[in-house]
Amino acid sequence: MNARDFVEKDFYAALGVPKDASAAEIKKAYRTLAKDLHPDTNPGGEARFKEVSQAYDVLADATKRREYDEARSLFGSGPVGGAPRGYAGGGVPGFDLGDLFSRAGGGAGGAAGAGGFGDVLGGLFGGRPGGGAPRAPRRGQDVEAEVTLALLDALRGVTVPLRLTTTGPCGTCGGAGAAPGTSPKACTTCSGAGVTSRSQGGFAFSEPCRACRGSGRVIETPCSTCQGEGRTTQGKTLNVRIPPGVAEGQKVRLAGRGGAGERGGAAGDLLVTVHVTPHALLGRKGDHLTITVPMTFPEAALGAQVSVPTLDGPVTLKIPAGTSNGRTFRVRGRGVPGKSGDLLVTVVVAVPGKLSKQATKALEAYAEAAPDDPRTHLVLEG
Ligand SMILES: [Zn+2]
Ligand SMILES: [Zn+2]
Repeated sequence: MNARDFVEKDFYAALGVPKDASAAEIKKAYRTLAKDLHPDTNPGGEARFKEVSQAYDVLADATKRREYDEARSLFGSGPVGGAPRGYAGGGVPGFDLGDLFSRAGGGAGGAAGAGGFGDVLGGLFGGRPGGGAPRAPRRGQDVEAEVTLALLDALRGVTVPLRLTTTGPCGTCGGAGAAPGTSPKACTTCSGAGVTSRSQGGFAFSEPCRACRGSGRVIETPCSTCQGEGRTTQGKTLNVRIPPGVAEGQKVRLAGRGGAGERGGAAGDLLVTVHVTPHALLGRKGDHLTITVPMTFPEAALGAQVSVPTLDGPVTLKIPAGTSNGRTFRVRGRGVPGKSGDLLVTVVVAVPGKLSKQATKALEAYAEAAPDDPRTHLVLEG
């Protein structure tokens, strides 16, 4: 068996056990399979028998099993993490595993060039602290923020100051992480390759260099502002324009107003979640606005022209004679700005709590003049 077998073969699948199977489970699975597949009783099953034996040989040995798990987690579809970039699911045309292992095993010595082994590890271990290798421009982070607006501001659009904390390149060291006047040095442990190899059980394993955390570089005198991270958290206040018509919970994306990019990369976006506090009179229903307008009984009965406030100034609403309590009128085009909604005006009869003597007399006279009983229909059965 060679290193390639180690990565390409799924010994767990061969035995039909989960990756976290106990030693006892592995042993039991092997015994059952070995009995079924033994060439003496099952001619033609040699290949499968060999596969099962090979799997058991590794998984039954705690040390070999651990190395197998490590190797697969690093280079294959193993138990830990995902497959590295450009190496999804066991083999990409043109990518040679043997090449990978010969480079890794043969003392990397600074040979981990672009597109080769160093890239694979770079994809695996993510960002490299300490101002390390990746040189490609990187887009800045998207930054999330929340803002609470009064309904009128949300409807009309408003510019609000937003206090944000973002991370950006350290101004003291320019993002290098090394104190001004010094620069990162090549790591002596891995000769700047970012990986070290060790030999165990006849196999060569590569792993990210512990001394430099895979970056290949060591910062001897860290920048005191960013403690060598190369990035700092900065507070800033942005004046943000919220467009008209934004509704509760809506996210406004402001392109390029997020975190700064690195090495010339574009800035991230600012995503502002808008909350809207209710208005005492005006409500919102989708693209429509709503308002409740009181009317007197004589207005409802006789008809009237009433003034109704809208975002663009008052309009006159004609209440026809005989309008019942709670009826809704539509003022076209006076809904949420920029949308096709209307203003929905609901009229309700306002009943005075206290009446003057004159008004009382007049109402009594009215009651006599219009004695119709509005409750004649109130019969549940019959
Ligand atoms: Zn190193
Ligand atoms: Zn710094």
